[in-house]
Amino acid sequence: MTSVPVLPQAPVAPRYPRRNRARLLESFDAITESCSRILATDHGHFESAGELYSLPRFVYVGRPGGGEMIRLGVFATLHGDEPEGALALIRFLERLAESPDLGQGFGLFLYPLCNPTGFEDHQREARTGVDLNREFWRNSHQPEVQFLESEIQSQSFHGIISLHSDDTSDGLYGFVRGAVLSEHLLEPALRQGNRFLSRNRRPQIDGFAARESIIHSGYPGMLQSAPETPRRPFEITWETPQKAPLDRQVSATVEGLEAILAEYRRIQSFANHI
Ligand SMILES: [Zn+2]
Repeated sequence: MTSVPVLPQAPVAPRYPRRNRARLLESFDAITESCSRILATDHGHFESAGELYSLPRFVYVGRPGGGEMIRLGVFATLHGDEPEGALALIRFLERLAESPDLGQGFGLFLYPLCNPTGFEDHQREARTGVDLNREFWRNSHQPEVQFLESEIQSQSFHGIISLHSDDTSDGLYGFVRGAVLSEHLLEPALRQGNRFLSRNRRPQIDGFAARESIIHSGYPGMLQSAPETPRRPFEITWETPQKAPLDRQVSATVEGLEAILAEYRRIQSFANHI
């Protein structure tokens, strides 16, 4: 009887080399150094396979706008294979640094890399295999989610914007939740984004009923304000068509964010005068 030698199992080679977190963050650090209104911090430290990770946060403190500072949280790369939002945030910070009028009255809390292990591994889920965008306010054990939940609670944002890119959509669209205001902010943002990308005007998008590129529902566990929040912020999930040229996705997102700031300011000053 011949014995068949048992070969040791070769480790599965990753499909691509790991993406480089440091390289992505270099651009953010360069802008932070050039603009005194931007503060950089690292939070939510955790370990994965012996390596230390953290969630970077960049805060842009605008010139005082004459009232309470409007705090917005902008979250990107919660799905690790959708780094387009992080690239848009680099451009957005550059615009804010160049034109202080844009961010006047706002405190903008930008979280460009919410899923650092998924980003490195080119995958939607975190390295634990969990889709972080289904974990919010469900007693998640994922450290990224626990950190982001604590930020959402402690900063009590006036608005929450999540940036995503969808490889099944051929056009721009978004989800709205929270305050009714959300829809009135998303529409002008989509109009601006439409200068670079077409809008997805299908009656069904991603399995949800949609009207004029806007979906009024969402998935349980999506990144959003805590369920018991008394005065819910506006909540927008922005989706660019991932197969469209990257520079168009970046431009559409930056213009969309600027439109949200401008419209929020316009509605607020109108409200102050009635
Ligand atoms: Zn996504």
